[in-house]
Parts: sequence; structure tokens; C-alpha cells
Amino acid sequence: MRAAVFDSTAANASRHWLSIEEVSRPELQPGHILVKVVACGVCRTDLHIVEGDLPPIQERIIPGHQIVGEVVGGASTDLPLGARVGVSWIGGVDGECWYCRHAMENLCDRPQFTGYSVNGGYAEYASVRADFAYPLAPAMKPTQAAPLLCAGIIGFRSLRVAGVEHGERVGLYGFGSSASLAIRVLRAWNCEVYVVTRGASHRKDAEAHGATWVGDENSTPPVPLDRAITFAPSGKVVVSALSHLRKGGVVAINAIHLDQMPSFDYDKLLWGERQLRSVANMTRQDARDFLALAHELNLRQTVTEFPLAEANRALEAVKHETASGSTVLVP
Ligand SMILES: [Zn+2]
Ligand SMILES: [Zn+2]
Repeated sequence: MRAAVFDSTAANASRHWLSIEEVSRPELQPGHILVKVVACGVCRTDLHIVEGDLPPIQERIIPGHQIVGEVVGGASTDLPLGARVGVSWIGGVDGECWYCRHAMENLCDRPQFTGYSVNGGYAEYASVRADFAYPLAPAMKPTQAAPLLCAGIIGFRSLRVAGVEHGERVGLYGFGSSASLAIRVLRAWNCEVYVVTRGASHRKDAEAHGATWVGDENSTPPVPLDRAITFAPSGKVVVSALSHLRKGGVVAINAIHLDQMPSFDYDKLLWGERQLRSVANMTRQDARDFLALAHELNLRQTVTEFPLAEANRALEAVKHETASGSTVLVP
């Protein structure tokens, strides 16, 4: 099969992070299903993997953790042949560590990460754990379903971690794939949404999606915020979000990697029971709850498609925020 492979030992000259290769189709293992990939979303985490911000776990890996596929092997009554399924970043947990036993499988001590510790969906086929594949409604277009699987689910988890309640004032810092899905949930919950983002096209998108107020990275929302979610991989943005909170407010950091965390004034910014929280991975319950909500809200995402052979260009588009909405590879 054809796949885009990241080799962590190869020098990545001229931004060719991935090489397009013919590799053998994955063998079906017990407890797994084989899926034919129909679409695979591109996430900023993929960029962190190929740029070495996240340390390599495997020497060679096929990235991609927003997989929409069709079951072609290992079928069961729950996941019959031809069924449409989605696969996300958490590709498996051990089920027995302290975190798994306390409903925090997102923090599992021995997790599998799709497209990072095990091969992902930048390929024609992928082998995935059957108990981490989510049935998708056949009516949903595969390219539109793909970004829901990480950007959507983890964005939704961020709202939970931030403790967002209906009708609150919520700040979104950065307006890429994840934020543009989260705002739809926030609007459905009658929240006022304040968007701070650097790209002019992203500010336009935010307005189109019903943001109450939109500003660039140097501006301050006109009201103190109840909650804020930061999406940019920048510690400076986190501190800025913290400075816009009311007392008792929460900043949830939706980023697997931050450039660095600048020092800040505790007395002014964190005192008053303000909270700073990271958002790590997701549970299967987050996935099921968000996918059901996305179906109910009829979420339709703007998508920029790239063929698998242009995986490097797709990563460039995520890096430079040039694509509108979400970026998706089609094999
Ligand atoms: Zn565990
Ligand atoms: Zn992701």
C-alpha cells in the first residue's frame, strides 16, 4: 500500500518531512480491525512529531490520527464489514493502571497513540484496536468527519476541562481547526465567544461563526472572561489569556507542546482562585459524547483537501495556517 512515512533518523532536508512509499499492508492482529482509509485529518500534533517537538517513539512511523475508514478485516457484529468508523489520537490503553481504573484513561501510564507510537492513517490502510474505533453515521461526508476526530473531540474536552457552563463568556485563543469546531458547540450552549487570533483570515472565520467579539493577538476582550481555551502552541498566549480572566476563572491549554512558559505575576494573574489547566488526550466517553453532539448539531466543517502524495504540503498548510477550516488527506 501507499503511505507517507516519517523517518526520525533521516535528515529532513528542505522540509520534506515525510516520504511517500510503498510499504506492506498491516497484518491483522487479534482485537484489531483493518480499515481502508477514506480520509485522514491533519493535526498540529503531526507537525510536532515530524519537527521533533515531540520525541520519536518509533524510528519509522506513519502519522495521522483522525482516520475515517471502512472495515475490511476483523469485522464483528458491532463493526461489520464495510462499516464506516473513526479513529482518534488515543489508539489504546492498558485498562489496568491507576488512571484507567479511575475513569481517567486519557492519562493512562501505557497508552498507544495513533500515528505516533503505532502507525496511523497517512496511508491506504491502517490496523486499529477495535475497541478504539467509533462507528460513524454513513450520511456524514468522510472529509468532514475526519477533523471531528481529534480537533473536534479534544476541543470539546477542553470545554469540559475549562468547566464551561451554558451562557458563559468564553475566550478562544487561536482559531484553527479545533477552535472553529468548539465555537459551534459554544454557540449551541448560548455562550458569548471572544476570539483572539493572529491571522486575518481566521478573524474573519470567527466572525462568520458568530463570535461576539474578535481581536488580534495584542488586543484585550472588552469584558472579563469566565473561561478561556488556548490553542496556539505559545506560552505567551497562555499568560495573555490568564490576564483576561475574572476571579475564579479557568484557562484550559489545548496544546500538546508549548514553546515555553514565560514567568508571570502570581499576585495579579493567578491569585483570586484563577486556574491554569492542561488538556491531555481524551477518553472514549469524550469521543462518543462529542460525536453524538456533532451529529445532533449537524456540524459541517470547512475542509481543505490534499491527496496523500502531497502530505508534506498539507503539513505546511497547518504550520502556516494557510488552509481555511481543517486540512484533510485523501488517499
Ligand atoms: Zn492505563
Ligand atoms: Zn490531534
